[in-house]
Amino acid sequence: MTVSVLPDRLVCGLDLGGTKLLTVVTAPDADEPLLVTKSPRPGGDLIVALAAAAREAVAAAERAHPTGRVEAVGVGVAGLVDRGGVLRYGPNLPGLTDVAVGPSLTDELGLTVVVDNDATCAGWAEHQRGSARGSRDSVTVTLGTGIGAGVTSGGVVLRGAHGFAGEPGHMTVDPDGPRCACGRIGCWEQFASGSALGRMGREAVAEGRGAAILAAAGGDSDAVRGEHVSDAAAAGDGEAQAVLERFAWWVAVGVTNLIHVLDPQIVVIGGGLSELGDLLLEPVRRAQADLLMGAAHRERVPIVAASLGERAGAWGAALLAAARLD
Ligand SMILES: [Zn+2]
Repeated sequence: MTVSVLPDRLVCGLDLGGTKLLTVVTAPDADEPLLVTKSPRPGGDLIVALAAAAREAVAAAERAHPTGRVEAVGVGVAGLVDRGGVLRYGPNLPGLTDVAVGPSLTDELGLTVVVDNDATCAGWAEHQRGSARGSRDSVTVTLGTGIGAGVTSGGVVLRGAHGFAGEPGHMTVDPDGPRCACGRIGCWEQFASGSALGRMGREAVAEGRGAAILAAAGGDSDAVRGEHVSDAAAAGDGEAQAVLERFAWWVAVGVTNLIHVLDPQIVVIGGGLSELGDLLLEPVRRAQADLLMGAAHRERVPIVAASLGERAGAWGAALLAAARLD
């Protein structure tokens, strides 16, 4: 008699950002992925590059875990992805519009493929494995080059009618504000993203109230980025802390708007700026308490840092693909 042993089920996740590609292979129920890799964003044909990255990750994972078989692939992409897996538009992915990522990768790989917005994927990972684990209603906001969000409502991903829900980065918060990468005026991500913190740092330097920020940027005012503001603030510089405090107020404006609309149990702040921890989150919490309607008469909504780091998007994509297998 032969006893057949079913291979362990694995899933692969890819996260295509503006500058890099993160890849994860994991068992659907694992607390840690089997494999995480990071590479520069590939050039050339997007589908060919994503298929190659997926094949490479699958081969590496199956070598490391010979009884495992990758059965599905999830892809997170920084843009509007419709329910059919078509990337319609991404303000930070110039030239990539109406790309049928899902259908094309399904043909290429012969596997189940799920494609979703990158922040939606990251939010699902934080909800399932990270800082929002155990909640039913969570909002994860990723503060990076731009702003993305992943919303879980009643334990399921909120996608909206067309798949485009969760784009608070493009809420208008100042009709007289700067122009956004999306072409519109005054979007929240022009005030509360890493890019926005850099702009605020350059403004402070230009107005003579950013000596430590300028020093952190090596004395070149054009080179000031968000991390120079946060480095100077973390080192105790009062002027940099004032810039960060103002930035945190703008973060709180958008977070409060989200709480007003969605009433989550918890708000998770992810993306590169979440590494600042309480240096950023404490002033956000203080400002949010002032901005929230009826704050004295409702439950406090915790605002916490994400816990999965930059692998969240790829991991969440893998978990969304795993859900398609069931
Ligand atoms: Zn915008």
